[in-house]
Amino acid sequence: MSAKKSKPAEKKTAKSAAKPAPAQPAEKTKKTYGVLRGLHDILPREEKYWKKYYRAAQGLAEYFQFGRIETPVLEEAGLFVRSIGRGTDIVEKEMYLFEDRDGTKVALRPEGTAAVVRAYLSNGLWNQAQPVKVWYWEPMFRHERPQAGRYRQHYQLGFETLGVKDPAVDAELMLMAYNLYAAVGLPVEMHVNSLGAPEERERYAAELVSHYRSKRSYLCEHCRARLIKNPLRLLDCKEEQCQPVKESAPQLIDWLGEDSKGYFMKVLEFLDELSIPYVLSPYLVRGLDYYTHTVFEIYPAASGAAESAGAGAPAAGETAGAKPAAPGSQSALGGGGRYDLLIEQLGGKPTPAAGVAIGLERAISELKHYVEQNPSLAPTDDKYQIYFAQLGDDAKRQGLRIIDQLRSSGIKPAFNFFKNSLKNQLETANGLKVSYVVILGQKEVQDKTVIIRDMESGVQEIVDQKKLEAALKRKLGLS
Ligand code: AMP
Repeated sequence: MSAKKSKPAEKKTAKSAAKPAPAQPAEKTKKTYGVLRGLHDILPREEKYWKKYYRAAQGLAEYFQFGRIETPVLEEAGLFVRSIGRGTDIVEKEMYLFEDRDGTKVALRPEGTAAVVRAYLSNGLWNQAQPVKVWYWEPMFRHERPQAGRYRQHYQLGFETLGVKDPAVDAELMLMAYNLYAAVGLPVEMHVNSLGAPEERERYAAELVSHYRSKRSYLCEHCRARLIKNPLRLLDCKEEQCQPVKESAPQLIDWLGEDSKGYFMKVLEFLDELSIPYVLSPYLVRGLDYYTHTVFEIYPAASGAAESAGAGAPAAGETAGAKPAAPGSQSALGGGGRYDLLIEQLGGKPTPAAGVAIGLERAISELKHYVEQNPSLAPTDDKYQIYFAQLGDDAKRQGLRIIDQLRSSGIKPAFNFFKNSLKNQLETANGLKVSYVVILGQKEVQDKTVIIRDMESGVQEIVDQKKLEAALKRKLGLS
């Protein structure tokens, strides 16, 4: 039988199976389950976005020599309390805390750095050549109030460099983040600040408290609490009534000593050299306690950074607050900084380190938004080189073997074993824009041949199955 003739009647059931599944009517007696509040499923239709970032991240990690690390989702709760800090939102309100069966207090990992430091210490990575450079791609858990861009489980991509203090490290991490977005076509900018050394930060915090205290009656309820618990977080407040107090607040950079200022200037010089757009952001403090010196966040590019990019770092001694940034409360696409005290705080020797974390759901949502205005940047599904069409049960059996042989020879066919009509399969092949379709009908099964159809000319050629790989490679220009 020739492939053209074989066209079994399409059954209704087969057709309806190809349509998107309608919501299944629930049996009245059975409870149905939805996803928990604040959580979300990631479906195959999203895969092209995730892949685009994953491939970019993997390529960067390989190029800049970061090794993959994966830590457990569960850690002792104390690890996060001690590292992130008691007065922070994450520890106070957002951690998923459980008592394990043996009574140990455990937490679902809310962020990656503390777990990486724990792994650095418990696996003796401090004993290897430094710096140790690692990257992760992992889910994080925070019991936040669900809203756009805030999930209770979300993915973060992180790069961490442990064991070295050098402005080149801070710059390299910002370059990684910048490059990641460049790879998917998204223009971003860095918002940068320095928190200085702990003593400088403490002196500044005292100054900040005295400024805010004098204006206490204007403050929101949360800021009144922050005044006592975590003064630096006063600068994070988005309440309108607190903004005038913030605008007249002292700036951290003015409290930095010469060394800290010098270090920060060197970081900025790297950014200039790399032409990474940045905005000096004097009120950027980040929501975690373990940061020292450089801190930064990544935002979708706005005009502000374009002005300051390449404008040069402020001269030493000059207040680096000339271009205050006003990032939206939830638009940060990522953030990071230096955490020189954390390793010691968690029981190791004093060891400097720095890192960056990128929120992937936000990165994807920002990319989708950007693609609406720039359709050429839309990620595409993976391309197939050929389509494999089969007609009947015998052809399916031989077909699966042939497809698997093609896989090991590096040819990627699209196929659907649950479509039985040739017309239907050719239409799909047409939609996928493949140049060739390999057709296996009853006759070809008997003869151990296949038909190769050139989709542009419609010309068909019968080829021995043993010679299929070579014939396809020749046609696809792979040999
Ligand atoms: P953080 O260290 O808290 O700044 O988190 C790093 C990045 O993860 C942020 O810049 C966001 O892009 C992302 N992120 C943080 N929390 C959430 C959340 N609840 N849902 C989605 N993304 C988040």
